[in-house]
Amino acid sequence: MSRIIDGKAVSAQVKERIKAETAKLKEQGVEVGLAVVIVGDDPASKVYVRNKKKACEEVGFNSYEYAMPAETTEQELLELVNKLNADEKVDGILVQLPLPKHLDDKVIINNIRPDKDVDAFHPINVGHIMIGDYSFLPCTPAGVMELIHSTGVEVKGKKCVVIGRSNIVGKPMAMLLLHENGTVAICHSKTQNLPQVCSQADILVAAVGKPKIITADYIKEGAVVIDVGMDRDENGKLCGDVDFENCKDKAGFISPVPGGVGPMTIAMLMQNTLTAAKLHKGLSGGTDEGTSDGKDRNVWNKLFLHT
Ligand code: NAP
Repeated sequence: MSRIIDGKAVSAQVKERIKAETAKLKEQGVEVGLAVVIVGDDPASKVYVRNKKKACEEVGFNSYEYAMPAETTEQELLELVNKLNADEKVDGILVQLPLPKHLDDKVIINNIRPDKDVDAFHPINVGHIMIGDYSFLPCTPAGVMELIHSTGVEVKGKKCVVIGRSNIVGKPMAMLLLHENGTVAICHSKTQNLPQVCSQADILVAAVGKPKIITADYIKEGAVVIDVGMDRDENGKLCGDVDFENCKDKAGFISPVPGGVGPMTIAMLMQNTLTAAKLHKGLSGGTDEGTSDGKDRNVWNKLFLHT
């Protein structure tokens, strides 16, 4: 019988910690600000933006929302990004993806100042994650790590399998597990014998985007199973990549959808925004929790704040 990992409860603890630190900063006259930019009318994006705004309120950040019409041109969006790059009230900039088809995500992301890139999507931040010397956490993978930590299972020396190799989830996920000394395999649509590879994993992270494709035969008895998927089942109901009912008795720990990874992603976004604010205000150089070795993060000040 597995234990269900409660993402809501873990994310509430993370947000409480952030709230307390934000209140202390306020006493010193330091405010934290997150700008969220949304282009067009995608209903899912609107929900995400609303949730991010709500999380800002919960932890005591100022949030600035910029809703732009679907016809916004690349130049107009870049002008806004540049304005936010220069705005001292704004510590973090998040451009909600996906953007309408005529806009190139890469061009926009590459123009966000890396020290305000709280999604950690800018190539400079991706590079820092790769070498394990980073201040900003890749939000979803970092949320997964918090969930794994909450189980008390140590990653060190464990066989870890990540299904999915996207730039925003699969690849950085594998890096974080590796930084914690897991033995990591990354699977994808061309992987052969997927159930057999997965069934050797002590820690299995599914980030595929296919409803309920992970069944009990993919799972090692007692494994930690984390479901990143946000999919719809045949009735249009939100579900994950893991067939929860089928797997829950075989896994040692399992995260549900909803109520697992989803709330963690937003909590980690709040953590990054706080880190950015501290960097901008010359306070501590980032978060030790976000680094593989807890080294001094002043490299950030050198790299971004005085160039
Ligand atoms: P993505 O870019 O579409 O990547 C999906 C990955 O899964 C790809 O690497 C793909 O392999 C692999 N894949 C597809 N079908 C497969 C199969 N049958 N067997 C093995 N691997 C397969 O998706 P993503 O952006 O990483 O997102 C993955 C899921 O996580 C989605 O459901 C998304 O909604 C969810 N998500 C949730 C959160 C959250 O906060 N909870 C955040 C982000 C994403 P190839 O590379 O070979 O194509």
